Amino acid sequence: MPKRPGWRSIKIHRSYTIEEAARQLSVAKGTVQRWLKTDGLPAMKDQRPFLIHGQDLIEFLKRDKRSGKKCKLHEAYCFSCREPREPAERMADLVAISDKIGDLQALCSHCGGLMHKRVSMRLQGQLGTLLDLTIRQRQSSM
Ligand SMILES: [Zn+2]
Repeated sequence: MPKRPGWRSIKIHRSYTIEEAARQLSVAKGTVQRWLKTDGLPAMKDQRPFLIHGQDLIEFLKRDKRSGKKCKLHEAYCFSCREPREPAERMADLVAISDKIGDLQALCSHCGGLMHKRVSMRLQGQLGTLLDLTIRQRQSSM
């Protein structure tokens, strides 16, 4: 399996040429060129060589990581941590949106931020074995 690019070595306030970014991340120059060309990595293209903002590069690599990383059934994606996280105390609410769809709501075990994700109501039995689950009905607007 290829090594995950180490975005932690990238500096937010620096700009990188393609060569520098490739070297810093231990990837081929062609890989960085592909990110620019087809994968939507932004660069300052009004000058040559192109410069890539460290910040853009970090965001790009994190996004890439996120798409490759699925939440487990009882986890939800925390937008503060930018990681799938377990609910704090393994407690979560399952709010029924319809007969089929529920909104799993929990606090991030890492930062305490509110997380939620859409789940199938069919999974409530399974979720109940993993989490201390409270089933709630969505408040109907009168
Ligand atoms: Zn978090």
